[in-house]
Amino acid sequence: MATTTAAEPILEVRDLVKHYPLTRGILFKKQIGAVRAVDGVSFDLAPGETLGIVGESGCGKSTVARMLVHLERPTAGRIRYRGQDITQLSGRALKAVRRNIQMVFQDPYTSLNPRMTVGDIIGEPYEIHPEVAPKGDRRRKVQDLLDVVGLNPEYLNRYPHQFSGGQRQRIGIARGLALRPEIIVADEPVSALDVSVQAQVINLMEKLQDEFNLSYIFIAHDLSIVRHISDRVGVMYLGRLAEIGSDTEIYEHPTHPYTQALLSAVPPPDPTARERRDRIILVGDVPSPANPPSGCRFRTRCWKARERCALEVPELAVPAVFRDLPGPAAHPSACHFAQEDKAT
Ligand code: ADP
Ligand code: MG
Repeated sequence: MATTTAAEPILEVRDLVKHYPLTRGILFKKQIGAVRAVDGVSFDLAPGETLGIVGESGCGKSTVARMLVHLERPTAGRIRYRGQDITQLSGRALKAVRRNIQMVFQDPYTSLNPRMTVGDIIGEPYEIHPEVAPKGDRRRKVQDLLDVVGLNPEYLNRYPHQFSGGQRQRIGIARGLALRPEIIVADEPVSALDVSVQAQVINLMEKLQDEFNLSYIFIAHDLSIVRHISDRVGVMYLGRLAEIGSDTEIYEHPTHPYTQALLSAVPPPDPTARERRDRIILVGDVPSPANPPSGCRFRTRCWKARERCALEVPELAVPAVFRDLPGPAAHPSACHFAQEDKAT
């Protein structure tokens, strides 16, 4: 489990942007603006690492995920895989890269075709990449995959409705593994599942990570879900990263007010910590990504906001005051006034 990115990153994401045009009129579409779903997101992923990405609904997590697996083309920015720029690849070159970066979807109830057998669902990627499994080999490969995700290999002729939510997500994971990828982008893989089943699926994903040497991007809307599985965590707000750091940096020494607010809503397991921590109640709603606030996007809900926050976009960087001060507070945070938490 890597906590630093000492090894060459397997994935480098730079200033990724996705704007969806907002149009009016049906026949003669006129662009009247844009939904800034993702607006400048950068991070690295190290081999074997799990990067958690957390943020409230609508902050752009799924859009980032879809761009990483080429389901969506970025408006701007770069994605590099093993040093190679894959942002604008197409045709055969894209196909070769896509094999290595697979997605597990949020809702196992809607992402599995109800009319296909489980065997066909898991084996579907082989139709596009027959070189991975020749036809005569597929049945056995699919059975192996069922076994690997903890399902009975004899289930391959059943249909999705014959399985529970947790089992369906295991099927989704098996399909994600079919091409033996190096990276899995899991978009809220346990959010649709009962709490009692969430831990089982997360444990399975950890086991598979070791077994197949996988790197994960694990998306969730809740900081508590990703804590256990993530080496590092990035917190998103309105299309941008507010803060990114190791498990300890984010959970024990958050410097961005948004992260602090999210964490204050989670009761810490240790009762003494519970007494020390004051709850932060955020006022108002998340603004529309079609019309985000100037400067810092969080400023309209931030108790620390001052004039500068409306004028200047805070960069995601180690706050100046922590730059020469080694320690867990010295990690990237997009806040002009992060340093004020030095005393706490
Ligand atoms: P999350 O996964 O964090 O909930 P999404 O990435 O799904 O967020 O969405 C981010 C924002 O982009 C939301 O405001 C959403 O409504 C908008 N959005 C997503 N997909 C589209 C699309 N195809 N067209 C227009 N707006 C979109
Ligand atoms: Mg989503």
